[in-house]
This record gives sequence, C-alpha cells and structure tokens, in this order.
Amino acid sequence: MFRDVEMNSLVKPTLRWFQENQRDLPWRHTKDPYHIWVSEIMLQQTRVEAVIPYYQRFLRELPTIADLAACPEDRLLKLWEGLGYYSRVRNMQKAALVIMEHYDGRMPESGREIQALPGIGAYTAGAIASRVYGELLPAVDGNVLRVLTRLSEDDSDIAKERTKKDAIAWMTDVMQGGVSSEEAGAFNQALMELGATVCVPNGEPRCMECPWQEACGAYAHGTIDVYPVKAKAKARRIEEKTILLLQDDNRVVLRKRPSRGLLAGLYEFPWLEGYVSRKECVAFVRSLGAEPLHVEALPEAKHIFSHVEWRMKGYLVKLADAGAGCLNGGLLVPKDEIQRDYPIPAAFEKYARIVQLGIGAEEVRKQMDL
Ligand code: SF4
Repeated sequence: MFRDVEMNSLVKPTLRWFQENQRDLPWRHTKDPYHIWVSEIMLQQTRVEAVIPYYQRFLRELPTIADLAACPEDRLLKLWEGLGYYSRVRNMQKAALVIMEHYDGRMPESGREIQALPGIGAYTAGAIASRVYGELLPAVDGNVLRVLTRLSEDDSDIAKERTKKDAIAWMTDVMQGGVSSEEAGAFNQALMELGATVCVPNGEPRCMECPWQEACGAYAHGTIDVYPVKAKAKARRIEEKTILLLQDDNRVVLRKRPSRGLLAGLYEFPWLEGYVSRKECVAFVRSLGAEPLHVEALPEAKHIFSHVEWRMKGYLVKLADAGAGCLNGGLLVPKDEIQRDYPIPAAFEKYARIVQLGIGAEEVRKQMDL
C-alpha cells in the first residue's frame, strides 16, 4: 500500500526537479493568498491553458477579496462564463463575505481556518497554507493521487474518500519528516506538476524524465496501465431538448434560470423538453403571447455535464411583434448586450454564436461549417 515506498529520500530530487522544470504560470509569481485561491479554484476541472486568461481578467476586475464580496451576481457569473461548475465562484463569494466579516478582509493564516471557509476543501487549503504561510500541509488532487498510486502500486479506488485520506496522511508524514517550511509550497506544487506534465493521465507517462523512476513500482513492473484504479462511473443520463431562439430584428428572448440547482442564476434561451416538431414550436410561441413570422430549424448541439448529457435541436423563430407578448417571464434583450452583460452557460454556446452572427439557419450552416 501507500506506505511501502520510502518516500523521504525522494523529497530533495523532487524539489530539484521542480526547480528546473516547472512551467512558468502567472500564479507562480505571487504569494498573495487571494490570487492563489482564485487560481486553485479555477484549475479544478479546467485545463491550465484555458484558466490563464480567466485568471488574469478575474483579478483585473476583482483585485481584492472585498471586490469579490461586493460583486453583483450577474457580473460574477459573467466573469466565470465558459469555465463551468458555477457553484465554485458562488462559494468563493460566500467565502469572501465570511472573510470580510470575520477576518477583516484578509485570508485567515492557518490551513484549518482556510478549510472552514465555504467551498474550500483540504486540497485548496493545503495549496494556499503551504505556499503562503509555509504550513506543512499536503495538497492532494487527482494528479497527485495518480502519481502516488503508480509509485506505490496501490490498488485502492481513487474515487473513494478513504484513498484520498490515506494519501493525505502519507504526505503529511513525508512533509513533517523531511520538508522545511520554506519548501512546503514547492513540494506540493512539485507533486502536482509531476502528475500534470510527466506522470500524465492519458497517453504514455514520460518515465525517462521522472525523478521517481528508480523508486517507482509501476515502472519497474510494467504495470503503469493498471494504476490508478478507479471504479467505473455511472452512465450519464441523456436529456433531449429543443432550444428556441425567439428574435425580432435586434433582440432575442432570454430567461434567467432559478437561483438553485444546475446552472443557477445564469441566462438561457427558452427551451422545451424533448425534440418538438415545428408545429409544436409554433404553438408554444403563441402560448407566450407572441406571433411567429417564420420558423427555421437550427443545427444540433450537445453538452456534457458530469452526470447528464444534453442533446439539443433548435429553431430560430422570427417574431412579428415580440414586444406585445408577455413571453412568460422571458426578457427581450438587445443582441449586442448579451456578450457584455448576460452570463450564458457553455451548453448554449453554439446557439449564442448563432444569435451573434445574426443570420438565418441556412447561412449559419455554411458559416459554422456544419
Ligand atoms: Fe509515473 Fe513513470 Fe514516474 Fe512512475 S516513473 S511515477 S509511472 S512517470
């Protein structure tokens, strides 16, 4: 199991390797706990290259924890638009409010207090406390778990909380046994970097460049493909939807999603459950109090959430007099304001682009290469 490997002798080579090979990333140039916090939350479930522009824009617009705490919801969700998993940024704002109220606007200085904030788990608390305050607290994410299970040929299911707890206990011992306070942050980052760039999840790990090669059980026994062991996830539920782009000349109908649940508080185009016919679409538009002038079928799209997959068809509906209809709570929004002011989930990205193009369905097919 995890503890079969004598890890203390790997600490110095790991730190040296990190010193020489780490990627130059914007959040590695700071010791500001707020900046590190933002980067760590963004990096959960999102690739480094995708995060960089979001990270820079977020801090440009919300340079302090006080700015984050005071940011209006629509603006906050707009800054996160495209990153997905919006509960991450909602929790960040909740945590910012706690920091304003109880810590005078400054990040608390111990891992225990940081972990007590909304949306912050052991990993993020360890990443912040080790780098900023030199606390000997590990930061074990999926990358780190993968490297450790390969190193020790541990066949525990990495999806289980127990496995993560064992890894944290192991790394806590290692850090307390041979990592100094000044090295704590670098050690955690080194493990993550090793998993992200050398002991990679898909494709061949680059064992020839790995500072752990001589100690690695999976490398020695040719069992790299076996680890990490992860129980198969349940199959995703498929949901079919029909998306409606209800437009007059310059405006399109949006509605705000409920304040709880999937994609809470974001804006979306109206949609109907299942694939509906053109006739059903027309009947629905009339039920909103609007009159369709003409209806065109749009290209299909799909979006994958962690447990659900949306398969979408759509119609572009030109409305005769949208202003006259009640639209059942929908908002008629000028098309040129959508990009600036309305956070729209990535699930609707293709249809949002069609609205921006401002053209008919046939032209859409040509321009979008469909
Ligand atoms: Fe991963 Fe290869 Fe290094 Fe083992 S030697 S930890 S399999 S990269």
